[in-house]
Amino acid sequence: MEDYPRTVLELETRFGEEEACRQYLYQLRWPEGFCCPRCGGSKAWAVGPRYQCAACDRQTSVTAGTIFQDTRTPLRVWFRALWYVTSQKNGVSALGLQRVLGLGSYETAWAWLHKLRRAMVRPGRDRLCGVVEADEIYVGGKRRGRRGRALEGKSLVLVAAQADGPAIGRIRLARIPDFAGATVGRTLQAFVEPGSAIQTDGLRAYRALANWGYVHQVVREEAQEGDDPLPRVHRVAALLKRWLLGTHQGAVHHSHLDYYLDEFTFRFNRRTSRSRGKLFYRLLQQAVAVDPVPLNQLLGGNATPEPPKEPQPESSR
Ligand SMILES: [Zn+2]
Repeated sequence: MEDYPRTVLELETRFGEEEACRQYLYQLRWPEGFCCPRCGGSKAWAVGPRYQCAACDRQTSVTAGTIFQDTRTPLRVWFRALWYVTSQKNGVSALGLQRVLGLGSYETAWAWLHKLRRAMVRPGRDRLCGVVEADEIYVGGKRRGRRGRALEGKSLVLVAAQADGPAIGRIRLARIPDFAGATVGRTLQAFVEPGSAIQTDGLRAYRALANWGYVHQVVREEAQEGDDPLPRVHRVAALLKRWLLGTHQGAVHHSHLDYYLDEFTFRFNRRTSRSRGKLFYRLLQQAVAVDPVPLNQLLGGNATPEPPKEPQPESSR
């Protein structure tokens, strides 16, 4: 049973004290009971705000190893930040967050937003399956360029959209360094379950997808006008570009694009969720499941959405 506040009033009432926030995080982090990060022990004693493992005496806190680790800000302020971020339909700016929470500095608000974005895409999340459309797009910059070339001022982004009947199911997005077949294959492998069908146009980079364990279906680019052979992925690309322009005024540094792609994916994949509270719950759940990110790494923005993997072609044996 998922337990979350339904309204901002419920949030305020329920999470006015640190202890209430900590207990809530405890439930999210250890839904099946305490688990010692050192020895896996399941018994612990509360020692102030920390928990001491009964087996190995290691002390841990509910925020250790999460994006809340080492924060000097009260959890109840973090909870309000999460609520604000998930209750704004189109995303928030650092300035907006700073104002709403009365944070002292813009840099703090900015760092918080990036921590939260990092939590929006869960490590090891489910891959897409069934029929998936894939295409590459350029983000940023204004000039049009030849396809498949990295252009100055533009980032190359791979888009995958799962078909849900005629509609769009879940999506995945990632910035890719180049348009080589191996890069495309590796990225789609992180996105899509092997055995699924991937539909693309006829570009060379997609030709080896069968070797990565997929049923590769090439759609015709010269289809009649008004008859888009990859309608889902093109719709996602248009929405992404509009969102980047509208919410971030198009001012997206390449090095931080990964985070914006993660935020867009989080929002898109939950766009039908009518409950703000449920988004809050999901984001908090993911926030206690990821590693802490030092500020310098945020500023460098050098995150990789998925660790690269070697190709594992499915043999026909
Ligand atoms: Zn232990």
